[in-house]
Amino acid sequence: MAEFDVDLFVIGGGSGGVRAARIAANYGAKVMVAEEYRMGGTCVIRGCVPKKLFVIGSHVHQEIEDAAGFGWSIGQVSFDWATLVANKDKEIARLEGAYTTNVEKSGAKIVKTRAVLEDAHTIRLATGEKVTAKYILIATGGAPNHGPAVPGIEHVISSNEAFHLKELPKRIVIQGGGYIALEFAGIFAGFGSDVSVIYRGDNILRGFDEDVRKHVRAEMEKRGITIITGSTVTKVDKHGRDFTAHLSGGSSIAADQVMFAIGRHPNVKGLGLEAAGVAINPANGGIQVDGWSKTSVDNIYAVGDVTHRTNLTPVAIREGHAFADTVFGKRPVQVDHATIPTAVFSQPEVGTVGLTEQEARAQFAHVDIYKADFRPIKATMSGRDTRVLMKLVVDGASDRVLGCHIVGDAAAEITQAVAIAVKMKATKADFDATIALHPTASEELVTMRTPTARHVRQAAE
Ligand code: FAD
Ligand code: NDP
Repeated sequence: MAEFDVDLFVIGGGSGGVRAARIAANYGAKVMVAEEYRMGGTCVIRGCVPKKLFVIGSHVHQEIEDAAGFGWSIGQVSFDWATLVANKDKEIARLEGAYTTNVEKSGAKIVKTRAVLEDAHTIRLATGEKVTAKYILIATGGAPNHGPAVPGIEHVISSNEAFHLKELPKRIVIQGGGYIALEFAGIFAGFGSDVSVIYRGDNILRGFDEDVRKHVRAEMEKRGITIITGSTVTKVDKHGRDFTAHLSGGSSIAADQVMFAIGRHPNVKGLGLEAAGVAINPANGGIQVDGWSKTSVDNIYAVGDVTHRTNLTPVAIREGHAFADTVFGKRPVQVDHATIPTAVFSQPEVGTVGLTEQEARAQFAHVDIYKADFRPIKATMSGRDTRVLMKLVVDGASDRVLGCHIVGDAAAEITQAVAIAVKMKATKADFDATIALHPTASEELVTMRTPTARHVRQAAE
């Protein structure tokens, strides 16, 4: 009789868990996956995918406005939120089905229930059933932060609810200055809502390149989004169907919805981590792992948002794949977390890879900056008041391109391609040797000849 019921038990059917389960099953392991909500996880069900569909839909408004300069006369247009939500739900249900089928096809078994650890080799299902496993992978993801517990917090929605609103809010207050706040600000503004973003610091997108932060803020404001910085929501009142968001400065804003997008926390609560001896990383509250995604217990691994390393879908997938290769494929693989490209699907989009100017100047003695801030060709005829930012951060000593930062249409698509060059340690000379593709916005990346700034740190006396 086998020592354990399964070779691998995966808790969580999201990006990381699904990839790990499929690859491990392909290697011949007997795999079981528990999912308490919907197969596909955050990215597919209430993250990247429905968000991108909303972004695409909301951008149409701008296309219609821009069309006039190109001779189009578009009559009365109207938008129906209910149709958008219903069609999005249909697509998400299709994807959920595809994820389920693909896992089953690999030979892994799905159990649609919550699973928690009873000890290092035993998992307890919500059905009461117990399963023993040689290896356990925790891939339970994360969830929106609700705090701080201001009066009226029960009236506040998170991104989870924003995907299922019955009506498009005419006015929405969004607290936060990160990915989700800015993406939803663009979505709601695109569909015609009056949007106010409330951010506690001095400028949105903390941690991004300073030029990017300034540029995207200015562009969002040009598109009619109100951005209030140095402020927090201190109280939310409800009157009938309306809300009032009270701000720390003493002012208040009337709204049909108030949304907080103030970060996410790893799903570790009630998982039985103590019973199994799995340690939490005191620095970030996620499950502590080493470079192999192994926890403090030898046969238990954790990948994705629950480890709170880099909370992005392709990272969770790569970590899940590397775990399966290492443990079941006899191919030890560590994930390289350096130079991960990322995009904020705000409007305009932000695409970034590598070091910001500020990070580069802290690490390198000689940093050259190449920056272009220009009116895109489309704006010359649409008449839209908008500018694109392209910025390269270069190590002046080795000529290596350390970072690339873009704000403008297709920034995410451009950044994915540039990320290959940056990851390959391409030099500025390599960029310059590449002939421009004209007329594009991204040709600026290979035609910026002279540094716009040069930062040389003097050697200490
Ligand atoms: P998840 O995908 O969260 O999966 C975890 C799964 O575990 C969930 O399905 C959950 O129900 C299940 N689960 C939890 N506990 C248990 C339990 N005890 N038993 C059984 N099942 C359990 N990333 C990008 O790269 N690009 C984007 O554009 C992007 N947009 C986003 C937009 C939004 C609004 C949000 C919220 C996130 C976005 N992300 C994006 C982040 C991305 O969704 C996550 O990084 C990714 O889903 C993490 O994958 P994961 O496998 O770690 O966890
Ligand atoms: P972020 O960490 O990106 O942003 C959180 C924002 O909320 C920050 O501006 C932060 O301010 C602010 N904040 C935090 N705590 C408080 C508080 N108590 N009161 C007021 N403001 C607060 O988190 P998100 O929720 O936007 O997204 C979570 C993660 O999901 C992202 O970090 C990313 O990893 C992933 N994601 C990725 C996307 C993509 O790839 N396009 C899209 C959406 C999500 P401060 O900066 O001052 O700390």
